[in-house]
Amino acid sequence: MAVTPDTGIETPPPPYLGRSVRIVGPVDNVDMNQTPHPRNSRGELGKALFNWYRNTISRDPLTRVSAPNHFADKRNFLAAVVNQAPKGKINAKPATVPDPAAMTRHIKAVARHMGADVVTVARAHPSFLYAATPPAKDSAARDVYQNRSEDVHQGRTVEQMVERYPYIIVATTAWDYEKLQAHRHFIGDAAYHVSQMKAQFILKALEGYIKELGYAALRGVSNPQAAGLASGVGELGRNGLLIHRKFGARIHMPDPIMTDLPLVSDQPVDNGVEDFCKICRKCAINCPTNSVPFGDKVVWNGVEKYKINWLTCYKIRPYMDTNWGSCLTCATVCPFTKPDVWWRSLTVWALSTCPIPARPVLVRALKAIDDRFWGVTRQTRVRWLGYDSGIKPGEHACTVAGCTATHDAGHTTHPAGDVGYYAPLKENTNRFVKRDV
Ligand code: SF4
Ligand code: SF4
Repeated sequence: MAVTPDTGIETPPPPYLGRSVRIVGPVDNVDMNQTPHPRNSRGELGKALFNWYRNTISRDPLTRVSAPNHFADKRNFLAAVVNQAPKGKINAKPATVPDPAAMTRHIKAVARHMGADVVTVARAHPSFLYAATPPAKDSAARDVYQNRSEDVHQGRTVEQMVERYPYIIVATTAWDYEKLQAHRHFIGDAAYHVSQMKAQFILKALEGYIKELGYAALRGVSNPQAAGLASGVGELGRNGLLIHRKFGARIHMPDPIMTDLPLVSDQPVDNGVEDFCKICRKCAINCPTNSVPFGDKVVWNGVEKYKINWLTCYKIRPYMDTNWGSCLTCATVCPFTKPDVWWRSLTVWALSTCPIPARPVLVRALKAIDDRFWGVTRQTRVRWLGYDSGIKPGEHACTVAGCTATHDAGHTTHPAGDVGYYAPLKENTNRFVKRDV
């Protein structure tokens, strides 16, 4: 192991993150102030995105109470109140932990009791951490999901942070499968944003619980995906999302908790995502902004992985916010994103236990079945509350009873069919790749 000169602390070797991602070179710790939302908050991504992010009020009332930054009144957005509450103190009399394995089971049970669908523990590594730079005041103040309102490193290097707080707890929620089928619609947004809000509440409660046990619970320190890969939440797909064994790509990866509570870490998993992504490409085919790569993995900041173009993915939002807030296409179309039923479990079990050299044959068969029964492109129509994903935007709230949409007086029935209205179509949206904001 190499020794960091200024601290004398040994830098651990690169961690194993499973088959989907490999650390192959030096990793520069990412400055959180340079991640997409803070950059946008400072106006560095152009006027359209800046105005969408800071000055747009959603016309959808559910979005206004569940999605960050598009509320009419911030006080109606509960997550803002919760995440910006003052930090609690750590109990001065820490609980003794004679058996870290028992404590790990306990913490996972508590997180599940609070509502988490997935809970894992990662062994912290310096490469997982954000750079030890203080948060930019303007960005942290606006993005209510950014938990880093203070300098959590407090002068420590990333190596010192890992030595002091050796574990990272990942606790998260899954999005509702049925509503997600109406992605690129306020219905899909509701699945995404409400479960995102729940994950924030759970993590905040878990943070408090760990402090009541007498241990530190730091947020805004670790990259969630790195901790998720190391602890076996899932594998990284071509779509840039962690793909879970049970929920597929429909899980959030919120800001995890770094702690000095003695725990036992989980290990990376092999669910067959690595083998599937080499052949599948459904997310790339369906991405309306061409942000998902068709080609091979690349090395980015010392990490070999599929690299999506986050900027072109991000850029589409200001142009679509009258119809929806979050695209979610690449998560919805993924063959791993299926209902949690027996045939799904059987399929993933078969894939993950199949010898690796034989997997391409199995993947081709499974992909053909997926295309046959679920389609290459999702077109499902979903009716929920007063929404109907089959109605063209502008008539989005139309229902036969209690209709609130503006349209001709004679319009009293829904359009026929089970196909959702999807806008924009991929072939019409190459401009989002080229447009210079
Ligand atoms: S534009 Fe949509 S499909 Fe493409 S990467 Fe972004 S979220 Fe995924
Ligand atoms: S849609 Fe296919 S290629 Fe994309 S992440 Fe899922 S399995 Fe991989």
